Formats: sequence, C-alpha cells, structure tokens
Amino acid sequence: MSAIETIKYPDIRNYIGGTFVEHGSGRYLDVFNPAEGNVISRVPLSAASDVDQAVEAAKKAFPGWSQTPIKERVQVFYRFKALLERDIDSLARLVTEENGKIDSEARAEVLKSAELCEFACSLPQITAGEVLEVSRGVECRVEHFPVGIVASITPFNFPNMVPNWTIPNAIALGNCMILKPSELVPLSAGRIAELLREAGLPDGVLNIVHGGQETVEAICDHPGIEGISFVGSTKVAKIVYRRGTSNFKRVLALGGAKNHLIVMPDAEPEMTSTNVVASMSGCAGQRCMAASVMMAVGNSDHIIERMVNIVKSMVPGTHIGPVISAEAKARIESYITEAEKMGATILVDGRGYKVKGKENGYYVGPTLIDHVTPDMRIAQEEVFGPVMVIIRAKDVAEAVGVQQKSRYGNAASVFTESGGVARYVMENASALAALAIRTCGGRSTFKEFPLERLYRDSRCGSLMLPWTAEICLERIGRESLYEPDEKDD
Ligand code: NAD
Repeated sequence: MSAIETIKYPDIRNYIGGTFVEHGSGRYLDVFNPAEGNVISRVPLSAASDVDQAVEAAKKAFPGWSQTPIKERVQVFYRFKALLERDIDSLARLVTEENGKIDSEARAEVLKSAELCEFACSLPQITAGEVLEVSRGVECRVEHFPVGIVASITPFNFPNMVPNWTIPNAIALGNCMILKPSELVPLSAGRIAELLREAGLPDGVLNIVHGGQETVEAICDHPGIEGISFVGSTKVAKIVYRRGTSNFKRVLALGGAKNHLIVMPDAEPEMTSTNVVASMSGCAGQRCMAASVMMAVGNSDHIIERMVNIVKSMVPGTHIGPVISAEAKARIESYITEAEKMGATILVDGRGYKVKGKENGYYVGPTLIDHVTPDMRIAQEEVFGPVMVIIRAKDVAEAVGVQQKSRYGNAASVFTESGGVARYVMENASALAALAIRTCGGRSTFKEFPLERLYRDSRCGSLMLPWTAEICLERIGRESLYEPDEKDD
C-alpha cells in the first residue's frame, strides 16, 4: 500500500470568511503522526494571495464585530469553553495524533485552553477604562479600542493551547484574526474554528491560513495586519520581530528557552526527584518552561540516584511520547553524543529508543547526563527533548552564576528547605519567572511574570504599546535584536 492510500485525513484547507477553502499555490507538505512516523494528512503551503483573502474577510467582519458590545463578544467564549469540555476526548486524540504527546498531556492541554477562555470572559471587568473629572464639566476618559486585524503565528508543541493564548483575548477585545498554525501540527486549528463557529462567532472574525516561511513573510509584510503575536524558536522570533516592526506593526515574539533548576542538598529528596524528572520529561521535554539544566549544589547524589531510578522506570510510548520529527530526534541525539565525547557521564541513555509495534516513531527515551560543564553546547543551547543535564556547583552563588549567563530567560527554580536560599535565588536569578519550591512551608513565589517585556533571547516586543523598531532600539539599546545573530544561523 502506498503512503497516499494510508493517509487518514483529507487535505487540510484554509478557513476564510467562515468556509474551508482551497489555497492558491497548489503546494502541500505532508503531516506526520510522530508516534508512528506515517503520513496522516497534507497541509497547504499558502501564498501571499491567501493571506490577502484572509485579510479581506477579516476586514469585512471587523466593523460589525468591533462594534458588538464586549459583554456580548465574551458570550462566544463562555460557549466555546463548554464545547472544548464537551469534545475533550476527540480534541485530545487529535493533539496526540499530530503532536505525539500522551493522552493525559493532551487532555491537560485542552483543559488549559478552556481555562484561557475563562480569563477572556473576565475582560469586560479588566478593560473597563477610567474617567477623570479634570475640571467642571470636563472629563478625561481612558477607553480601550481593538487594534484591528491581528495575526497569531504558533509553534508545534501545543497545537490546541498556544492558538488559544491569543484567540480568546484578541477576539473578545474586538479584533479580527488570522491564525497561522505550525505546519507540523495543523489539524487542531480546524476543529478550533468549527467549535468557535458552533459557539456563534461570526464569519471572518477568525481566519486560518496554513503554511510555512512564505506565509509568515506575507503576514509580516501585509499592510492590513496591525499586530502580530509569534511563539516559536528564537531564530524565527527575531526574523518575525524585525520584519514585522520594520513594517510598523506591533509584534510580541516569544522565543526559545533553557531553564535551570537549582537543587540544594537539603531539598526534600522524594518530591524534588519526582518533580525534576517530571519537568524535563513532560511532553517529551518539548515545553518552553521545561527544565533542562539541573544545578546540583554540594552533595546531591542521593537525589540524583532517585532521579535515575524514576527515569529508568519510565516507558516511552506509555509514560512519554515521541518528539515531533525524525529531524528533532536526530538533533537531540547528536547533542547527547557530543556531550559524551566531551567527557560528560550518561547516567540514563535514551538514544536509539524503539517502541515495540511503533518502530518508525520518533522516540527518544528520557536521558540524564551528569558532570556536564557550563561551556558545553548541551548546557547552553535549547535541546527541546527529554534530556536533563546535571552541572555540579559548590554553592548557590556558583549555581545562580551559571543561570545568569544563559542567553535565555524564561524560568529558574530552586528546590530547598531554606527560606534564605530561596530568597537569594528569587532576587538574583535572571529569568522572567523565578520560583522557589518547598520553602517557608511549601510556598511557591513568582518574582515577576510580566506579559509584556523585552527579555534576553526568550521574548521581545509588545502588543500593548505601538513600539516600532526604532523606539525599541532606543529603549533597550540592544542591537542584537536587529543584527543577524551568529548563533541563530
Ligand atoms: P519554529 O520557530 O520552527 O516555528 C514557529 C512558527 O514559525 C511556525 O508557525 C512556523 O511555520 C514558522 N516558521 C518556521 N520557520 C520560519 C521562517 N524561517 N520564517 C518564517 N516563519 C517560520 O518553532 P517550533 O519548532 O514550531 O516550536 C518550538 C520552539 O517554540 C521552541 O524554541 C520553544 O521554546 C518555543 N516556544 C516558546 C514558547 C514561549 O512562550 N516562549 C512557548 C512554546 C514554544
């Protein structure tokens, strides 16, 4: 039987003006099920003319939608949330099929989407505006208006949730939207559109244009699109940020990550080992908040031993899904091989893993590597797989010092029983989220988690302020955002 005969889903179509339509270029890319390695569908590689069509449909819908009272607009998301919950079985199955994550992770993802709707439903209260009486009979008013037509470009790792980071909020606030899902996981987006239509969203408010680089470039260049939200790798985040802002759009671009966990010798061994392993192996390590570097302070061997036992008991295919593609598997395994050649100790080796009956799946077993040094590539670059490297440090200051040198800055955490150590890490770690676990009676504390901020290679730009490239450059003086970065090429 040829690959074409085994294809499970018909060719995917763009969704424009409330209808699934053919795309203009006639070009497609195969979509794979990462657990089996087989082709399950084909995704359109849309051209600029498809983006034009989507923008036209959004423009047509915008006057009616933006003038609908916000209290009525959010009713769509009350209903959409109920539909996500109603269809959680089939939505989770689709996520598992196109992305590979196991059922419990896929369900958690869909439930997160439902939670995101809850936030959007609170927007009438949050965006109420202000009135200041500045003189007799004279008022200054702060009112919120939709930006217009906005675009959301999403990555492969959360096909249901990351589109729902933007759809409920942007649309509830009166904007019309073009969604460009990852070409690796294009199936969930169509179901999201169908459920929103069932929830009562008018045609043209949400449009989906599938594709890759050419489609994204057309979005960045289109004069009808006012703002772009991008989530993906740092390399592409910078491309989208530069190209979008040079066309005077608002752009918020979220990039890659390398998250450090500091483990102190006093950390509670059972809880710490379980959580460290869960953080590195959940969604096969393909999460921007996954920990990938453990800074083991002092003698933490008793914790590492427990981690080894837990990791050895995990069964790929049951407890951990595949990575997204054959290329990702090869890339992750090459990082492990390079670290081994440079003298690191492989405690548990996930290379070459085969799941019985799914021999063509892209599985990498959970991997633990000890005695990694901060100068190794595996300690510095985003691996995006189920791999934890362990770097030894003599004290907490040395551990935080390694974290501070990272070019990324999504999250840093510390496991300790000491409130003083927790505070030190929260005050000194260079990450958007600094988290202390099990200190002062088990409290978790976020240092800061601003939604809009420029931060190292993990985040640039803003959708709230109309920053152009020039203003950003002046504000932060970081030419690296605009100049090609050797590490990204
Ligand atoms: P990616 O950058 O390869 O793709 C993201 C999007 O960009 C896709 O829609 C893709 O079609 C498009 N794209 C790819 N190459 C392009 C190019 N050359 N020009 C224009 N557009 C292009 O990212 P990915 O592999 O899908 O996702 C994984 C990455 O996303 C990881 O780096 C991860 O850390 C990051 N991520 C970050 C966050 C966060 O909140 N910071 C959240 C999730 C994922």
